[in-house]
This record gives sequence, structure tokens and C-alpha cells, in this order.
Amino acid sequence: MCLICDRIKMIQEGTNPYFVKELDTGYVVIGDNQHFYGYTLFLYKHHEDKTELFHLDAEERNKFMAEMSLVAEAAAKTFGAEKMNYELLGMGDAHLHWHLYPRKKGDIEDYGNHGKGPVWWYPMEKMYSDDNRPSDEELKDMVAKLRKTLDEMTV
Ligand SMILES: [Zn+2]
Repeated sequence: MCLICDRIKMIQEGTNPYFVKELDTGYVVIGDNQHFYGYTLFLYKHHEDKTELFHLDAEERNKFMAEMSLVAEAAAKTFGAEKMNYELLGMGDAHLHWHLYPRKKGDIEDYGNHGKGPVWWYPMEKMYSDDNRPSDEELKDMVAKLRKTLDEMTV
């Protein structure tokens, strides 16, 4: 079973507290850990054998990309970012999903190239520490704020 498919099932059952909004090609969710405040994911709706961008037909791919860009813009506006970072990985779960990170100077401390570099140069145990999981209240607040921004942008 796929973790992303599990999370989508929870969204469809109304039991995923991280869920923000459904778009045509995917679901917007807040990330479990918030060291990079505003970390947001955009989960493609389908899995099956579609695990690369080039598996999607052109129209679907363009829409998925455009919606991802919209979500990134909304996260940047809502949570503040000096620069957005975009990642589509999938060696853990092949299910197409974007990691969208609002970045700020100093957010990887002195790791990487003297504090410059990708999010994954910050130690995994710090990035995924329970210390930076949002409380229920904080999560509700983040979900509401990002949903409001997205609603305003998608009218
Ligand atoms: Zn999946």
C-alpha cells in the first residue's frame, strides 16, 4: 500500500486534518513537520501506473503543473517565503506528489554550504523531529489560512 493513497483515502473519508483543498488534478495538504514553516504538499489524484510526469498526457500534465504552481504561490503568500523550493521525488512512495517549501535565509542554520543549499542538507532527524509538528490549533490555523488564499485565487 502507498502512504499517499492512504492519506488521500483519509481525505475522501473526511478524516485527514492536514487537508486544505481539492483541485482538479490533486489535493493540497499541509506537511506533517513544519521546520520549514508553510511546508505544503500537492498530491496527484491518481496512482496506478502513472509515476512520472511523462506518464501523463500533455493536457493533464500541464494542468497538474499549473495547479502545483498555484499552490506554491498560495503557500508563499500565506506563510511568507523569500523563495519557494519545489521537489518531485518518489523513491519512497512513487505516487506523484510535490513538496513545496517556503524558504527563508538561515532556515538550514549553518548546514549545507554555510547555510545555503537544499532542504535535505538539513539533518533528517531535525527536519522530522516531533518538536516541529504543529499542534491541533496551529494546524487548524494553517489549513484555514491556506484554504482562504487558495479560495481567493481560484474564484
Ligand atoms: Zn499511491
